[in-house]
Amino acid sequence: MRAELKIEAMKWREQGIILNLAVIQVGDDAASLVYVRSKQNLCQQVGINLDLFIFKGTVKTEEILTLLSELNNDHKVHGIVIELPLPPQVDKQRVIASISPVKDVDGLHPLNKGYLLSGKEGLFPATPAACIEILKRSNIEIAGRHAVLVGRGETVGRPLIFMLLKENATVTVCHTRTVDLSFYTRQAEILFVAVGRPKLIKGEMVKPGAVVVDAGINALEKGICGDVDFEAVEETAGAITSVPGGVGSLTTVLLLKNVCRAIQMQQEEREREGTF
Ligand code: NAP
Repeated sequence: MRAELKIEAMKWREQGIILNLAVIQVGDDAASLVYVRSKQNLCQQVGINLDLFIFKGTVKTEEILTLLSELNNDHKVHGIVIELPLPPQVDKQRVIASISPVKDVDGLHPLNKGYLLSGKEGLFPATPAACIEILKRSNIEIAGRHAVLVGRGETVGRPLIFMLLKENATVTVCHTRTVDLSFYTRQAEILFVAVGRPKLIKGEMVKPGAVVVDAGINALEKGICGDVDFEAVEETAGAITSVPGGVGSLTTVLLLKNVCRAIQMQQEEREREGTF
């Protein structure tokens, strides 16, 4: 997929356009710094430009909105990412709603969420998209199969529900109020886990031969682990993603794929408006 991205970036370059991603970072949240570095590395590898805008943790909402307005109106900027979380004094919803929907490569804008919900085309979050892409590239059938999702969080679980419906899976969603989690996970032909609880899913919770996709990232003293007890589940599962090296390693690639989709959408929008 990296090679595909490189080819796509090159195609735009041949037309005199350098793909450009703007990343806004507020404060010095440790996880955000890691994600920014990973984006910088991949952008460099595939030939996409990344401009990083850093605000102090004390920034006011209006200052971010001013920058967003500039980036929205700049035709040389094709994608905008705001690293979350934002500090408490910043109005997160206002900031997100101020990103141009056709540059919203994290798929957070209410319009893109609506498109996802209604099965239309739009820009959608990279991590759940990575969960689906892994299955497709592994030739694992999704349509008609029983997908059980553990977690309904905003960034992974919730968007994944609608992506799976679009792929014609039969979807069951579990969360903290689910009574007898194992009862549901054992029915899964494809089990997706995005909860943020290290090794929550054990071997006996998985149906033999099931496909297990682990989106969890948990930083422990010994290193990073997923929400699935990999060693215990590996024996039972028919196929399983690892952490690290699975969903997480694809997320940035899919974010940059969104930049390629975004520029296409921006050109179509301008053609419709007759300004291109
Ligand atoms: P989140 O917003 O905190 O959501 C967690 C979800 O898990 C909630 O729906 C919660 O249920 C559910 N849950 C928690 N404990 C549970 C339990 N014991 N049994 C059943 N359900 C439980 O988290 P998130 O942002 O979606 O992230 C989920 C995981 O994905 C984290 O490990 C995060 O690090 C990882 N992640 C990975 C990437 C990547 O690039 N691979 C990107 C983003 C996030 P309730 O709704 O009832 O509270």
